Amino acid sequence: MSSLTHLECARCGKHFAAGQTHNLCDCGSPLLARYDLRRASPKLEPRQLQSRARDLWRYREVLPVTQDASIVSLGEGFTPLLHARRLGDKLGLPNLYLKDEAQNPTGSFKARGMAVAVSVAQELGIRRLAVPSAGNAGGALAAYAAKAGMEAAIFMPEDTPLVIRLECTLHGAKVTLVSGSIKDCGRVMRERLKGGDWFDVSTLREPYRLEGKKTMAYEVFEQLGGRLPDAMIYPTGGGTGLIGMWKAFGEMQELGWIAERRPRMFAVQAQGCAPMVRAFAGESEQAAEWVNPQTLASGLRVPAAIGDFLILRALRQSRGAALAVSDGEMLAAVREIAETEGILTSPEGGATLAGLKKLLADGFLAGHESVVLFLTATGYKYFEALETLASERGN
Ligand SMILES: *Cc1c(COP(=O)(O)O)cnc(C)c1O
Ligand SMILES: [Zn+2]
Repeated sequence: MSSLTHLECARCGKHFAAGQTHNLCDCGSPLLARYDLRRASPKLEPRQLQSRARDLWRYREVLPVTQDASIVSLGEGFTPLLHARRLGDKLGLPNLYLKDEAQNPTGSFKARGMAVAVSVAQELGIRRLAVPSAGNAGGALAAYAAKAGMEAAIFMPEDTPLVIRLECTLHGAKVTLVSGSIKDCGRVMRERLKGGDWFDVSTLREPYRLEGKKTMAYEVFEQLGGRLPDAMIYPTGGGTGLIGMWKAFGEMQELGWIAERRPRMFAVQAQGCAPMVRAFAGESEQAAEWVNPQTLASGLRVPAAIGDFLILRALRQSRGAALAVSDGEMLAAVREIAETEGILTSPEGGATLAGLKKLLADGFLAGHESVVLFLTATGYKYFEALETLASERGN
């Protein structure tokens, strides 16, 4: 079972009790779940895991849900890690892997985070969940809330891809369209729901979505036969998955799975919304808000991230980097992945390949290194972008 002990502020280190609802620390920073890893380690031995269910709940000792009965699951996690032989050949990178997160419920890796957040909510008796979302988080919350019989209120930009808006409505969520970005959605949500009994599951303001997303790191380790790759390339919005995987490496080290060496972490953002790239280049510890964010990769249209300092820390400590690619480069990469590897990924997924090409060209990565790209969502939900791509091709 879960070996959760408490929550700890990522900035000031203050402790908070498990088993109660929490958002941010008094100092305004995210809370991280902490576990008794010494107790967990004999049970979480990689060899013993092989017989467990092929979903993210196989790591339940390092997940925050204490009762199996609280779990709200649609079969999330344990997505394939595919060896990209044809694409790797083209790039001179024989050890290139694609983590195909499209195979999660609702077609994106946001399902991981919401499965865990909604399960903890179920355990704590919370019935009404609200979220500002640039897209896929809203869809995932709507689906898991439906499964749990909870109410969901979702605030999304009015230009969110149509399929994602429809998905939220069809799962029975209350959808409010807001003009602006996810940041504006958060502001409107807090105004509208003030004083009500809605629980805010904004990423990193709620501590457990990160726990769901961190399981990608555990899976990659198992799927590579008990090791981690040299580099990971992650399309970064709020950074929850990147921060989560970095946290997971720390846990894996304490569990005795890995030694000190960790993958180099690379954050890819859109040229029209690249607050982390700017802060990384400027050697700042935090990232200033990006004014007028623009990109068709809705998951990357996040002008300010509350976990900015954690993203930047992970990039620097791992000797990685942050880099930006254009929407055109993302779409060209979506087509290239579709043509060489048979996966129709989202623009955010395409961003990882566009970023990889730059990293190879600039000598950040070399051909002998093993690299994992996170294809974070299916392309099928990005109907508008696919139409543009297909028409460019003249068919
Ligand atoms: C949310 C999202 C991202 C960004 O994920 P973070 O962990 O919040 O940085 C990337 N790709 C897609 C498809 C998303 O929905
Ligand atoms: Zn604090």
